[in-house]
Amino acid sequence: PLPTPSPVDQFRATARRAAGDPAVYYFDRVMTFGELDHLSSALAAALRDLGVEPGHRVALFLQNIPQFWIALLAAWKAGAIAVPLNPMFKGEELVYHLQDSGAVALVSLESLYDEVARPVLGRTDVRHVITTSELDFLARAPGQARGPRVGEPVGLAGSSKRRFSETLDLVHLCQRLERAPDPGAEPGPHDVALLTYTSGTTGSPKGAMNTHGNVAFNAEVYRTWMRLGPGDVVVGAAPLFHITGLIGHLAVAGLAGVPVILGYRFDPGEMLRLIERWRGTFMVAAITAYIALMNHPDFGRRDLSSLGKAYSGGAPIPAAVVERFEAATGAYIHNIYGLTETTSPSHAVPLGRRAPVDPDSGALSVGVPVPNTVVKVVDLETGRDLPPGEVGELVTRGPMVVPGYWKKPEETAHAIRDGWLRTGDVGRMDAQGWFYVIDRRKDMIIASGFKVWPREVEDVLYRHPAVREAAVIGVPDPYRGETVKAVVSLKPEFEGRVTPEELIAFCRERMAAYKYPRQVEIVPELPKTLTGKILRRVLRERGAGQ
Ligand code: ATP
Repeated sequence: PLPTPSPVDQFRATARRAAGDPAVYYFDRVMTFGELDHLSSALAAALRDLGVEPGHRVALFLQNIPQFWIALLAAWKAGAIAVPLNPMFKGEELVYHLQDSGAVALVSLESLYDEVARPVLGRTDVRHVITTSELDFLARAPGQARGPRVGEPVGLAGSSKRRFSETLDLVHLCQRLERAPDPGAEPGPHDVALLTYTSGTTGSPKGAMNTHGNVAFNAEVYRTWMRLGPGDVVVGAAPLFHITGLIGHLAVAGLAGVPVILGYRFDPGEMLRLIERWRGTFMVAAITAYIALMNHPDFGRRDLSSLGKAYSGGAPIPAAVVERFEAATGAYIHNIYGLTETTSPSHAVPLGRRAPVDPDSGALSVGVPVPNTVVKVVDLETGRDLPPGEVGELVTRGPMVVPGYWKKPEETAHAIRDGWLRTGDVGRMDAQGWFYVIDRRKDMIIASGFKVWPREVEDVLYRHPAVREAAVIGVPDPYRGETVKAVVSLKPEFEGRVTPEELIAFCRERMAAYKYPRQVEIVPELPKTLTGKILRRVLRERGAGQ
């Protein structure tokens, strides 16, 4: 196969040609590609100086701040593997991910270091800690690369022998080494770029090994399919540690030379302001992020007319939400589908096309496979290939499928065979080649012997005007085996004004008797991941505990 460039080569090419162009809008501050290039080279040189070698793992424990991108590029320029970690992790979770990846260096927010990392680092292989503050880039005038000059730069001599007890400050490092050249690592397509951890709903979290070829390929998919180029502005609404943020915000922006709006973490009111302020054009995020924007009091007051390229992935998208968003903003939310193991999308609805709806399940199509990618539908029991129209598990092969999980040969062999990835998702393909994801295999409910897919029931609930968010699970039932239960949150104006019985009646009118929820629980808020996915698993566990 033709060698694919790496995301770091893609970025270097952009920095050469567009050094003066904006790369990051962080709240009201601007950082250019030239600045990002210099700062990441300086940090890469520092990492090398500390003893970080090609193939070593560098963990990133950061929120959505410019330093995330600096550190990611620095790891790659040094030839290292970046390990992005969820900033919500507490001590034991952090220890697991640092131990599993064998990270030798950690780039952390100062506050997270003090509260979470410092007490546990003795149990890991981390030898070097570089801390940074969220204020570093807020304190500067727009367009200025350097942080405020404070104190003497930290000396690096002999630091590779130091333990983590002495931390280095990222801004100091970059000032000290501002002219340090890019160490110049040129990773090949099969070298690992990222270890991205699955959330571990089954067994312990696994680090998917996204290669440089995987990342460069899907950055190119985003660029060409969403037609990103001059004039585009990426809305950084997904967390950067997740594959959506890594590829759909940073890698693609580095390739296309377009800026990314960052705002520390997703805050709907602030995000609405930033989209208007910087004229965001392209957004990819979980549907719950769109719901949160719509439910914010500022929603109708902000000008979102720039947002023509709206995408939602990571979880099923209810048609009712897509309709509501389009009616309010004019922007149609395109479906996009993929897994951590497919380095973000394997399918998407092409820009400007509308997803057809599956006549049986009511699901909106997730689109068609991206180039060079083949997706089969196989029988859930036998694994046999199924013809168009039939329901089975989706199995994917393409240039974005990871070669496996870090140091987990058994799990790798279970999930990936001859390059074919078992997605764990159930769906079908129609005769025109559009794919429909019905639900996750493991979320299927068997009520009175009938298969019920939660997403279908959730779609109906979202049609009720009072429903803000809905999740459907199976709960044990002495007669039916399992019965269908819905847990919903209401829009603020409907709180206290709708009863579970009304919602049950609403569903009963609209679906077969075995499908409609026999129980509805109204809660203030549904449990979610930081990526905005509703955690049906947590609801099931809660239900079991009752
Ligand atoms: P786990 O760690 O348990 O595997 P995760 O949610 O952390 O779960 P991700 O790789 O982030 O793992 O998510 C991939 C899953 O998200 C897919 O397998 C699919 O179930 C779901 N998904 C992604 N995009 C869509 C979409 N457009 N429509 C429906 N489901 C989607």
